[in-house]
Amino acid sequence: MKYLRNRQCRETQFSAGSQQNSQYDSQRISNTIINLVKYGAGEDYKMKNEKAVVIFSGGQDSTTCLFWSIEKFGKENVIAVSFSYGQRHSAELEAATHICTQNGIRHLILPIDIYSQLGAVPFLNEVQCSLLDNDLEIEQKEDSDFPNSFVPYRNLLFLVHAAIAAKFFGAKNLVIGVSQIDYSGYPDCREEFIYGTQELLKTAMGIGEDVVIHTPLIRLTKAETWKMASDLGVLDLIYHETVTCYNGIKGEGCGECPACQIRRQGYLSFLESQK
Ligand SMILES: [Zn+2]
Repeated sequence: MKYLRNRQCRETQFSAGSQQNSQYDSQRISNTIINLVKYGAGEDYKMKNEKAVVIFSGGQDSTTCLFWSIEKFGKENVIAVSFSYGQRHSAELEAATHICTQNGIRHLILPIDIYSQLGAVPFLNEVQCSLLDNDLEIEQKEDSDFPNSFVPYRNLLFLVHAAIAAKFFGAKNLVIGVSQIDYSGYPDCREEFIYGTQELLKTAMGIGEDVVIHTPLIRLTKAETWKMASDLGVLDLIYHETVTCYNGIKGEGCGECPACQIRRQGYLSFLESQK
């Protein structure tokens, strides 16, 4: 039965596109795969008695997901998990800590040091990643499908670590703020990656394991993400307290890097939509 249910979700996900297939029971799908827990849908689906682990970088998207999770699960049932993985700036983790402290949200910072360990070995030099190396400019080379800000296997590592934290916390829900709309070409922000990882996590623990990866932003534009922040009552907090900028500047950021430009354009589109 469980297998059948998952099959139905998979077929719905990959054949119906953005239109939820009405032949399937929406609540069952919400229970099984996050991609279909769509923003604004499933109002009758209560998750207040379940626990969730939110992957939380201190940026716009993950902060929106954190408050989405608090709305859905209740603050007492949510923990935020950040990762220290050798990222370009400490400003992200400082913002994440500040937001959690100010709002009474339980917060863990877990180390992932494989990138810095491998990067320090002289004969391992095939990965040139601008998010890990301050000396590199962020750019997209012609022979690459995505910008050099892409960190190999990062979201997979985050989800595996979050799943372990969830096990210790007694949670089955993981929340991650990926979007395949404004995703810069990153393959690990797509629905097929999320679905595959969810199945992998279940398989790794054996029969009966239930893991649900929620991606509330997966089909949202940046403007729609701002709208969600507004609906959740945290627009000002996210505007002023989060770090999205590649140069590590809080709030409006440097205004010039690709992340700042996408964020700014999304905000202006959101404001326009409110007129
Ligand atoms: Zn910037």
